[in-house]
Amino acid sequence: MTQSAQTANINDAEVAKFEALAHRWWDAEGEFKPLHDINPLRLNYTIDKSGGIEGKRILDIGCGGGILSESMAKAGAIVTGIDAGEAPLTVARLHALESGSEVTYEHITVEALAAREGENQFDVITCLEMLEHVPDPASILRAASTLLKPGGELILSTINRHPKAYVFAILGAEYVLGLLPKGTHDYASLIKPSELAAAVRAADMVVQDIRGMNYNPLTRVAELTSDTKVNYLMHAHLPEASA
Ligand code: SAH
Repeated sequence: MTQSAQTANINDAEVAKFEALAHRWWDAEGEFKPLHDINPLRLNYTIDKSGGIEGKRILDIGCGGGILSESMAKAGAIVTGIDAGEAPLTVARLHALESGSEVTYEHITVEALAAREGENQFDVITCLEMLEHVPDPASILRAASTLLKPGGELILSTINRHPKAYVFAILGAEYVLGLLPKGTHDYASLIKPSELAAAVRAADMVVQDIRGMNYNPLTRVAELTSDTKVNYLMHAHLPEASA
C-alpha cells in the first residue's frame, strides 16, 4: 500500500473482518452466499447502465474475493480489482487462476490509485457493498470521479440507514437467520440514498438511477424494486465536459 493505515481512508477493524473470512469467499453456501446470490442481478445492472461492458476498462473498488470482478471479466471487460485487504486479494488471485479469468488485482486504496494514475483511466467504475465499511465514503467517490473517463459510468450499491434496514439487514440477516456474521454491518455507518446522491454530485457526477434491491434469503432470489429502504443500487454518470 502506498498510504499508511493512519492516513488512508480505511477502517482497519472493518477490513480485518473480511481478512478473517477471506478463505470462505467462494463458498456459495457460506458467509458470502448473499453476494453470490445477488451477483447476476448486479452484473446485469452494470452491463445495462454501461451500455454493455465488452472491451471496456473497469475498476472494481473493494473487490474482495472477486465475485463481481470475475463475472465482468467473463463478460469481456478488462477488469482491475482493488481492495484494502490482502487476504481477499490472495483468494481472488487464486480463484482467477483456477477459473481461467483475467483480472488484474492490486492492494491499494482508490485514493492512492487516483494519485498515481490521474484522470481518464476507466470507462466504468463499480463499488459494491463497500461504502458502508469506510470512514469517508465521499473521498471514494472523489477518487472514482478522477479515475473515470469523461462520459464514464459509476455503479454503487450499499445499505440504507433506515429502520427497515436495521430490522432486515442487521437483526434479520445477522441475528435471526445467521446469514452474515454478527457485526458485519454497523447501523451508524449505513448511508441514506440522499446522502450518497449528494456525495456523487459533490464529486461532479450526475445521478441517473437509484433502485432498490430485494434479496429473499429463503428463496435466494434477488430482484430490483422501487423500495430503497434496505439494499439499493445507484448509477451515476461523469459528464463529458465539466463546466
Ligand atoms: N465488492 C465486493 C466485496 C464486498 S465486501 C462484492 O460486492 O462482491 C467489502 C470489501 O471492501 C472487503 O473486501 C473489504 O476488504 C473492502 N474494503 C473495505 N474498506 C476498503 C477501502 N477503504 N478500500 C478498498 N477496499 C475496502
